[in-house]
Amino acid sequence: MLRHIAAAVVLVAGFIGHAAQAQETAAPAQTYVPRTYVHAGALLDKPGQAPRGASTLVVQDGRIVQVADGLLAAPAGARLIDLSDQFVLPGLIDAHVHIFSDDDKTAARLEAMTRGAETRFVVGLDNARRTLDAGFTTVRDLGSDPAAITALRDGIEKGLIEGPTIVNAGRMISISGGHGDGANGLAQPYAELERAHAVNTCDGPEACRRAVRIQVSQGAQVIKFAATGGVLSNVAGGLGRQMFDDEMKAIVDTAHAFGRKATAHAHGKDGIEAALRAGVDSVEHATFTDAETLALFRQTGAYLVPTMIAPEAAVAQARAGQRPPAVLAKAEEAARIAFEKHIEQYAAPGVKIAFGTDTGVSAHGDNATEFKMMVDAGMTPARAIRSATVDAADLLGLSASLGTLEVGKSADIVAVAASPLEDVTQLERVTFVMRRGVVHRLDGARQPWPAD
Ligand SMILES: [Zn+2]
Repeated sequence: MLRHIAAAVVLVAGFIGHAAQAQETAAPAQTYVPRTYVHAGALLDKPGQAPRGASTLVVQDGRIVQVADGLLAAPAGARLIDLSDQFVLPGLIDAHVHIFSDDDKTAARLEAMTRGAETRFVVGLDNARRTLDAGFTTVRDLGSDPAAITALRDGIEKGLIEGPTIVNAGRMISISGGHGDGANGLAQPYAELERAHAVNTCDGPEACRRAVRIQVSQGAQVIKFAATGGVLSNVAGGLGRQMFDDEMKAIVDTAHAFGRKATAHAHGKDGIEAALRAGVDSVEHATFTDAETLALFRQTGAYLVPTMIAPEAAVAQARAGQRPPAVLAKAEEAARIAFEKHIEQYAAPGVKIAFGTDTGVSAHGDNATEFKMMVDAGMTPARAIRSATVDAADLLGLSASLGTLEVGKSADIVAVAASPLEDVTQLERVTFVMRRGVVHRLDGARQPWPAD
């Protein structure tokens, strides 16, 4: 520790000397990268393991460079963030959001006809900021306009705009008339227009291979497809399997050939199991399962992404007339069954679960309300937190940089006022958010951005 402080002092001294010299020569040869010392009252650096007591995280250039027991004195020139009365943990990861979906569902239904891409993009910018402000430093977007989501993703990546790290699918791949067919329920002229331009619908394995390749060419980092019907599509097709084995296999194999993971939207048992047999890396919703389905999850090692808050939100919206009539019966069916089935899933040993909310159905920024539902459905808070950190990072293929707070990993850090291991709803009220070393929320208040 002494050696470290000494080194930091030398570095600071070197900087001061260098700055003076730079005034004379105006030719700085190297840049001093400031360090931030984060004092944590308790630190859950590796979710799934026990938390540490008072600890210090040292952050430099967006990464963690030291994790130490006790509250280390910050050297001169370093920034100190005092969270010594807070509980600190890794930034949260939501493996299923739709960042461009508007919280205003009545407007959203007509948006394709009434709003330009620019207007929708502005809504997405705000959603991204609210997501980050809620402590979600990384999200996987499973269905957005490919041009919009890649622009948002890259803008955040370059530090031009504020938001979470995004791992994106493009459009969800779907059979004609399936959950991802944008022509469902449209008047004929609009349906014809949609069908003329849609590149995400496919019927038969050849067409489905092509649909994956097109999504990859448009920037998709993960491939999402609809194995079964869905709650929110405007078609009364139920929630059972709609895609054939050869179509699913073509999608998964083509995604893997491009080094992309494949995830299936699936509610019905038949569709979930067919997707698992086709080799998917995860299943979204997985509403209707039994022991056989869970055995298949264990056998394949695929993640289950529960999205428990989505059906509840959808039922409320459908009852309020904010969703088309075809949605209500499906939403009620899914919401009714979701709760009891998830108790079974969470209790099943060996089934991998990654935190995901389908936010965009529910309101952006409310992502953390999923935690309480998971715990109410039988999961321990410790496991629920692990599902939103270590496990979600694994599903996203980002374990090297995310999921835990260890030396070399990204400084994606959040804090809450009291232990979420005892009260998981603490995560609905994060007091501190840092992403890649940049502070976005401090003392419970959103910080001005950009920081400089
Ligand atoms: Zn979704």
